Amino acid sequence: MRTPIIAGNWKMNKTPSEAKALVSALVPLVADAKCDVVVCTPAVDFAAVSEVIKGTNIKLGAENMHWKESGAFTGELSAAMLKESGVEYVILGHSERRQYFGETDATVNLRTLAAVKAGLTPIICVGEKKEEREAGYTNALVTYQTLIALSGLTAEQVAKVVIAYEPVWAIGTGLTATDEQANETIGVIREAVRSVYGDAADEVRIQYGGSMNPKNCKGLMAQPEIDGGLIGGASLKAEDFSKVVHFDA
Ligand code: PEP
Repeated sequence: MRTPIIAGNWKMNKTPSEAKALVSALVPLVADAKCDVVVCTPAVDFAAVSEVIKGTNIKLGAENMHWKESGAFTGELSAAMLKESGVEYVILGHSERRQYFGETDATVNLRTLAAVKAGLTPIICVGEKKEEREAGYTNALVTYQTLIALSGLTAEQVAKVVIAYEPVWAIGTGLTATDEQANETIGVIREAVRSVYGDAADEVRIQYGGSMNPKNCKGLMAQPEIDGGLIGGASLKAEDFSKVVHFDA
């Protein structure tokens, strides 16, 4: 009932010419996808990628955005800038933004509200660090992160957002949560959503992210709570990303 969504997060990789080559290779490989396919790219790649994906089933995403509509925020991008560049999705609160750029739950919430207001679909990242899992805080932490991020949205709006459960210890490390760990924590996130937004919890799509790749995607995606993947490293090669998109092949 929930359409799976596989999104690539290219991070700070691919110049415009490299982006064009990657997405050109990807278009025919994923044309038959049964799930939603998104590539979240650096902003300098939007024009090159938009041109190639026009009329295809691939959607464009950004990796971050500011919450203000415009103004003196050197280096930042607004929702309107993303929209006009053909962007439909935007990753918010990625752990790298939280770790290296001072992103907080409060600013993730401001960005989420601005994205939804502008008609963008946020991909809101939540997840625990290794020491937090070991201390037994995972469920409380992801509940808190999720509810702060969504605060101020209506149930109808919440139903349309995407949440990515990304255990920080699994990102770019080659370590993956087990299928059961990922399913269990995503179930906790869904129940957190249900506690405030009721049945919207059955519609909101919750991805797993953290070293998801062609080898482990089938098992993860077979879990009932997991509605997709946010893919870092494996999204940088068209063949690998296509295999994740075809997770049930
Ligand atoms: C990510 O950055 O969102 C991610 C999941 O990265 P990786 O797949 O490389 O772990």
